[in-house]
Amino acid sequence: MVDFRSDTVTQPTEAMRLAMSRAEVGDDVYGDDPTVNRLEAMAAEMLGFDAALFTSSGTQANLLALMSHCERGDEYICGQQAHNYRFEGGGAAVLGSIQPQPLTNQADGSIALEDIVAAIKPDDIHYARTKLLSLENTIGGKVLPMSYLADAQALAFNHGLKMHLDGARLANAAVALNLPMAQIAGHFDSLSLCLSKGLCAPVGSLLLGDDRLIARARRWRKMLGGGMRQAGVLAAAGIIALEEQVSRLTDDHDNAALLARELSQIEGFDVDLASVQTNMVFARVAEHIDIHAIAAELKAQGFVLSASKNLRLVTHKDISRSDIERFILALKALC
Ligand SMILES: *Cc1c(COP(=O)(O)O)cnc(C)c1O
Repeated sequence: MVDFRSDTVTQPTEAMRLAMSRAEVGDDVYGDDPTVNRLEAMAAEMLGFDAALFTSSGTQANLLALMSHCERGDEYICGQQAHNYRFEGGGAAVLGSIQPQPLTNQADGSIALEDIVAAIKPDDIHYARTKLLSLENTIGGKVLPMSYLADAQALAFNHGLKMHLDGARLANAAVALNLPMAQIAGHFDSLSLCLSKGLCAPVGSLLLGDDRLIARARRWRKMLGGGMRQAGVLAAAGIIALEEQVSRLTDDHDNAALLARELSQIEGFDVDLASVQTNMVFARVAEHIDIHAIAAELKAQGFVLSASKNLRLVTHKDISRSDIERFILALKALC
C-alpha cells in the first residue's frame, strides 16, 4: 500500500528494528534505562536545551509542556489551527485547568504579533493569567519564517511570557530552511518533537526545556501514566531517528513538490503551490469530482488517501518518486 494519509504511517527502518532488538535497557522510572538516558542526552545536546524527556506521544509532550509552564487558572496563547488546541482533546483544560486563548492563524501559519499583544490579559482578578505563547512549526506543512520567530520571542520577553514550540515536525522545518534544528529551537523555552512521523520511529516524542521544567514534566508524566519501564526498546529507535532520518526528509519534500506540480495539472484539483513547503500537499477538489468514489478505486490499486473536498496528501519514507508517478497516472485515468 502507498499510504498518503499521514507520515505517521511510516514503518521503522531495518536499522531501528536491529537497534531495538539489541537495546540495553533498565527501569526508566528509576532513571536506570541507559538507552533512554542516551536518547534524552543526545536530543538535549542536538537541540540546545539543558534536558529532555522521552514521552509516549506528541500529545503527551505538549500536555506536559503546558502543565509544566502553567498552573490552574493560567492561560496559553495559541493558533486556532494549533494541534495543541484543536486535536488534543482539550487536555490542557481537562487535565491542567489551563485556559487556551486561540487566535487566528495567518495564511503563512503565524499569529499576527498585534493579535498576540491584544490578547495578553492585564494583571486583574477578572482574567486568567497569560503565561505562555505556543507556536507550531511546521504548521499545515508550512515553515514559520525565522524573522517571525525572532519577533515573537522579543514580544514574549517584553511581556513576560514563556514560549513553547509544538515542533512535531521541527525536522521538516529545519530541512526546508537548510538550518540545524537547534537554530529554530533557540527561540523557545520548550519544544516538543515527534520521533514517530517523518523520522520513522515506531513510538515516541521528546519534550525539551531547562532542568526545572523537565523535572516538573517528569512528575506530571508519571502522574499521567507515562512512566514507562524498559522503554529503551523504544528509545533505541528514537536515537536512529535523530541520527539517520533527519536529512533524508529532503526526499519527502522533493516528492511533495513533484506531487503538487503533477496534481495541479489535473483538471478539478486546485493546488496552492506556494503552500507546499515540506511534505504536505493540499488541494481543493471541484464539486463535479466524486473524490470518495475515486479514493475507493485508488484503494483497490494500492493507494490510500483520506477522501475529502479539501484533500491532504502527505509524503514520507515509504512513498518513493515512482510511487508518486504511478499514483498520478492512476488518478488521471480515473478522472
Ligand atoms: C502529530 C502531531 C502532534 C501529536 O503527536 P502524537 O504523537 O500523534 O500524539 C502534535 N502536534 C502536531 C503539530 C502534530 O502534527
